Amino acid sequence: MKRNVTILGATGSIGLNTLDVIRRHPDRFGVYALTASTSVDCMVDLCLEFAPQYAVMADEPSAQSLSERLAGNDRTRVLVGEEGLCQVAGDPQCDTVMAAIVGAAGLLPTLSAVRAGKRVLLANKEALVMSGKLFMDAVVEAGAELLPIDSEHNAIFQCMPPDRIRDTRGAGITRILLTASGGPFRTFSAESLRSVLPSEACSHPNWSMGQKISVDSATLMNKGLELIEACWLFNTTPDLVEVHVHPESIIHSMVEYADGSVLAQLGSPDMRTPIANGLAWPERIDAGVAPLDLFQIGKFHFERPDLDRFPCLRLAAEAFRLGGTAPAVLNAANEEAVAAFLDGKLCFADIAVIIEQTLARVATVAADSFETIFEKDAEARVVAREQMFKASVEGHS
Ligand code: NAD
Ligand code: MG
Repeated sequence: MKRNVTILGATGSIGLNTLDVIRRHPDRFGVYALTASTSVDCMVDLCLEFAPQYAVMADEPSAQSLSERLAGNDRTRVLVGEEGLCQVAGDPQCDTVMAAIVGAAGLLPTLSAVRAGKRVLLANKEALVMSGKLFMDAVVEAGAELLPIDSEHNAIFQCMPPDRIRDTRGAGITRILLTASGGPFRTFSAESLRSVLPSEACSHPNWSMGQKISVDSATLMNKGLELIEACWLFNTTPDLVEVHVHPESIIHSMVEYADGSVLAQLGSPDMRTPIANGLAWPERIDAGVAPLDLFQIGKFHFERPDLDRFPCLRLAAEAFRLGGTAPAVLNAANEEAVAAFLDGKLCFADIAVIIEQTLARVATVAADSFETIFEKDAEARVVAREQMFKASVEGHS
């Protein structure tokens, strides 16, 4: 059966890698819809190449511009905004949705795909971090097929018995070893972390990714979000998930069993591997990834994460333990702080400070509805901006 795929966030790093895998298998995959924020030029090229039925842009001017540029092409209809995103994600004519919008903006479209019972390839970890149990309940209720694309979670998924991924303890699993590259500042002193630049934070040693996740990797918030993501996906708790810094980024994570076996998934650091795994699962297809040369790599190294220099990992674990709306607040504060850092308005080391202050100021309540989650997300953004404003005024006085 040919799969009809919607790609949410088609112009991003994950979106383009997904299209690269799809391009190699025209017999297996068709592109049903592509979406982007405002990158009209890239979308014009993608629409001409893949001829999707729908293209969705985040705002009216971008949608208008894309329509004009595609004039005469009667294959692709252009839609706009969140409504358009949710429509193409839940459309009965598509069966597979790659959720690769960055940040909280991806939650509702991803949820639309979940509620429509699709195969959902989850790259957008923020959606799951924000809404945790509600999201997983929606997966079960709709019978959606949720497959992890984050390389670590895809590795864990591959190391688990496929029918027991929500039954970690029952399957004799004693620990999940979540690997982390350590990011570009792994060896930096606390002092030198104060003066690092956005361009340095975005130059990841092993992976080429969007700006936000690159900064998250540098602060280790990415590993914090992934810790929460692992707890929800595999129905486990942070005490059973141990972060191992592994600077080579070849082992993408491991699963330890009661008999002492530790299963690992290895591969070149190339997102096309987990993407191809999700697209074709349970089959295996060519992803265009170079074979692993272990002779050239030679050695693997492992370190414990340093929570003093990289407090974001600790903050994420604390937010998960607090429960309720705390992870949504953590995520929103992080998005605001990272945007300010990328804008040159916040120093790298203060990203964690802003998140901690926001968590302390926004009351945690039960995450009993998506409305509550979005209210807390909005409240956290206001509080985070206030803290940054206060810090900048004090810094200049
Ligand atoms: P990116 O910044 O390269 O791309 C983001 C995509 O989302 C773009 O197509 C952009 O147009 C779209 N987008 C951004 N804001 C939007 C909005 N408000 N409304 C609609 N569309 C919007 O990001 P990325 O690196 O591809 O990451 C995407 C997601 O995948 C993130 O959640 C990230 O954590 C996750 N992820 C990425 C990688 C990676 O290697 N890049 C690995 C694991 C997980
Ligand atoms: Mg990852």
